[in-house]
Formats: sequence, structure tokens, C-alpha cells
Amino acid sequence: MPTTELTTDVALGVAIPSRNARGRIARLGSVLDAILGSHEYPPLIEELLAEALTLTALLGSLLKEPQGQLTLQAQTQGGIVDLLVCDYLGGELRGYVRHDPARLADAPREPSLKELFGDGYLAITFDQPLANERYQGIVPLEGKNLGEAAQSYFAQSEQIPSLVRLAAEKSGGHWSAGGLLFQHLPEGEEGRERLHTQLDHPDWPHVAILGGSVKPEELTDAALPLDDIIWRLFHDEDEVRTLSAIVLSRGCRCDPDYVRSVIARFPAEERDAMVGDDGVIRVDCAFCSSSFAIEPKELSS
Ligand SMILES: [Zn+2]
Repeated sequence: MPTTELTTDVALGVAIPSRNARGRIARLGSVLDAILGSHEYPPLIEELLAEALTLTALLGSLLKEPQGQLTLQAQTQGGIVDLLVCDYLGGELRGYVRHDPARLADAPREPSLKELFGDGYLAITFDQPLANERYQGIVPLEGKNLGEAAQSYFAQSEQIPSLVRLAAEKSGGHWSAGGLLFQHLPEGEEGRERLHTQLDHPDWPHVAILGGSVKPEELTDAALPLDDIIWRLFHDEDEVRTLSAIVLSRGCRCDPDYVRSVIARFPAEERDAMVGDDGVIRVDCAFCSSSFAIEPKELSS
């Protein structure tokens, strides 16, 4: 098997056994250009989605099942952004944002989450079909950025001390975003029932300080391999293991046959009302902006 280049469009898992810590580090490049290229968002919204997709990649790479799905959804009230959805399935990422352009124009240059989302919540859903395991955590969209919100998700909903850093930058017309997630693994590690978590475990602050010293420009530097960053941060540790890398790509699961089958289930008169001036029913995919044209006669049964 060819070795995966650990520079862009990849997520790498890390374990520091002597500190009871696990981590994920990810960088997105052309994946972002592909996803953002199918929308026409202003720079601030592009940056928000770039960070959200990076967070999605980090969280998605925690899934144990290859067919597990991770969904990140912001539910908001009274904000500039009224919807943000990203998801991850087997390394494939997609996402979109719905916002009010007029209100965005009046926003400060670096708006807080509160300014962007109003009274917003972030729902994070882990779905592992083989184990029939699905759980959702919800946290208020508060703090400076999505990284901080994700950190409080783990602290509040999961009782897992965590560190999350996200950075995104556009230069020369191309986006580069990177992120890092470290977590204290409670004694007993994964797979065993957790009886308690010591939020003040002495090993955790050490890992958090080292991991937290990562610079935004290291996360976004597409020439800097991810394992080099891990080395820079943790080279004094007794043992640092890397897991196999996950290649990230843009993937949309919209499917013309599925769209047709959904439309076909509507009563005939409702379908007639959907037909546009050009004589076809048009359905757009919010994720990838693909437009499906459906001939009404294809649907008549
Ligand atoms: Zn699509």
C-alpha cells in the first residue's frame, strides 16, 4: 500500500499511552476548495465553514466504524447564520451554511459565536450503525470559535478533558485549514465502562499545555507534515504512537434516483405545483449545489 502523504486532506490519529491521552490532527486543502467552490460565500462564511469542516474531520476520525457517520449541526435563533451542517462518512466530508448577507455586512470583522449564531446550539451526532450506537451531544454556541465550543462539548456532555485548536487561512485563492484535538483517556481506556473521570488528572494539564502550544500557522502550513507537528509538540514524551492515516475527500451522497423517489411519493397535485416554467421539477442539493431536473412524466405511475 502506498504511504499516505501527511500534509493535506488527511487526518492522523495519535496516542500517548504514558499520559493516557489520545489525539487527532487534520489538515484540509483541496477538499475545502472543492466544497467551498460549489457555493458563493463571503470570506467570513467560508472561513467559518472551513473551520467547521476541520472540526468535523477531527471528530469523524474518532469513529471506530469505517461506515460510522458524524454530523455537526448548528441550530440557531436570531443569528446572522441560521443553519450550518457538516457531515463525515468514511473520510468523505460535506457541508453548507445558510446566512443573512445583509446582516453579515454589518458584522464585526472577527465576530464571536454569539454574534454569528445568536442563541445557538451545536449538536454533534455520532452514529455507528454496526454497533447500533447513536448519541448526540448539544452545547451552546458560546466562546470565541467553534474549537472552544467543541471543547466545552467534551467537558460538559462527555466529561472528557479535551483540547481543540482550529485554524483556517486563504492565500493565493486557496484555502488551508488545520485542527488538533487531544483528549484525556480515562483509566481503562476505550471499550470498558467508565466509572469516573478525574478532570484534574495530573497528566492532562501537561498534554494540554504541549498540545495547546501549536501555532495556527503550523496547522495551516500545507508543506508541514502532520507527524512533524506532533514531533515538535511531544518529542520529550516517552512514547508517541501514530495510527493509520485517514484520507479526506469531498463527498456528497445526493443521488438522482433517491431524489426522484422522494418526489414520486408526493400526491400528483402537489407534484404539479412543483413544476417550473421550464416544464421540469428542479431539486437542488444544499450540500453540493447540484441541481436535479426531473421530468414530471418520469414520475407518473
Ligand atoms: Zn449533493
